[in-house]
Amino acid sequence: MQTIQLNKRPVGTPQLSDFKLVSEEKPQINEGEVLLKAVYLSVDPYLRGRMSEAKSYIEPFELNKAMSSGMVAEVIESKREGFTKGEFFTGLLEWKEYQTHNGEGLMKIDPKMAPLSAYLGVLGMTGLTAYLGLTEIGKPKEGETVVVSGAAGAVGSVVGQIAKLLGCRVVGIAGTDEKVALLKSEYGFDEAINYKTTTDMSLAIAEACPNGVDVYFDNVGGEVSDGVMVNVNRFARVIVCGAISLYNATSMPMGPRIQPILIKNSVLMQGFIVFNYQDKYAEAIPRLAQWLMEGKLISTETVVEGFENTPQAFIDLFEGINKGKMIVKI
Ligand code: NAP
Repeated sequence: MQTIQLNKRPVGTPQLSDFKLVSEEKPQINEGEVLLKAVYLSVDPYLRGRMSEAKSYIEPFELNKAMSSGMVAEVIESKREGFTKGEFFTGLLEWKEYQTHNGEGLMKIDPKMAPLSAYLGVLGMTGLTAYLGLTEIGKPKEGETVVVSGAAGAVGSVVGQIAKLLGCRVVGIAGTDEKVALLKSEYGFDEAINYKTTTDMSLAIAEACPNGVDVYFDNVGGEVSDGVMVNVNRFARVIVCGAISLYNATSMPMGPRIQPILIKNSVLMQGFIVFNYQDKYAEAIPRLAQWLMEGKLISTETVVEGFENTPQAFIDLFEGINKGKMIVKI
């Protein structure tokens, strides 16, 4: 069986040579353990941070050790109560085709309630990040204008749809004309902007948001966000969810000083990690599941086939290859 390890710490954009595919013996389980087979694996932009040595909210990956991320796995063999062969679980698991586990931190999932991959997307960290960031920090009110960057990606596409369900005017920012069209036709965004072909982001936002910006859900940071920030209204809420435009930077670019904007407009700007809101998961997941079952929330996935293609799928996040959640089918 195969495992994917961190070979080198990337400098700038991650390369395939930063990863290595290693063959190992299939593990045997001991009393109290389960043997899991990987079914779906999530690749996420935040893993870039774990590939470098910098201190963060989560430990860096170790060189020459398996990487890990959210995964859906099937129980192949069990010597642990509460785990039966053929059941499916989700949790933070190692990039291994097979692994043993003591079961702690794994959540049983129901393939009859939703497709298994949805537990890595709308019903997993993606959906929780979108829902909890938007409602707990953004607190959007009906009729307000919500802008979301990274809008055609996993988190962004869910944020925009939820904001529409809550009665807001929604403007999305994404990196291709195809994505811009999709935002409007598929997800019901009111306006969408291609940041790669727009020369003046602040003007484009002003035109797309005639009443200004009340809530900004930021997935990308950098120049895109500079353009949004000059258009915020009094008492706007800025949810700093991600800054993918800066994750591969070898030196941090200098941006505009935004303190005067925050003061003048009494803006709340808050970074967050979805794990901060663990106590809200039990209330958020049924709401997301309900919307999904009622067809009010569209779950979009870009599925890459083959465990060995995991590193490329991860690298492709930085090229914007994905629409919705990038998932690897093992
Ligand atoms: P995603 O949006 O599905 O994938 C990344 C997308 O980012 C790409 O499709 C690409 O779309 C865009 N992108 C890549 N490079 C960019 C650049 N230089 N400038 C602007 N856009 C760029 O990924 P996701 O899983 O939903 O994550 C979105 C953001 O949320 C990430 O920043 C991630 O780190 C963050 N996040 C935070 C939390 C939390 O707890 N705070 C949890 C999950 C995710 P385009 O074609 O539009 O460029």
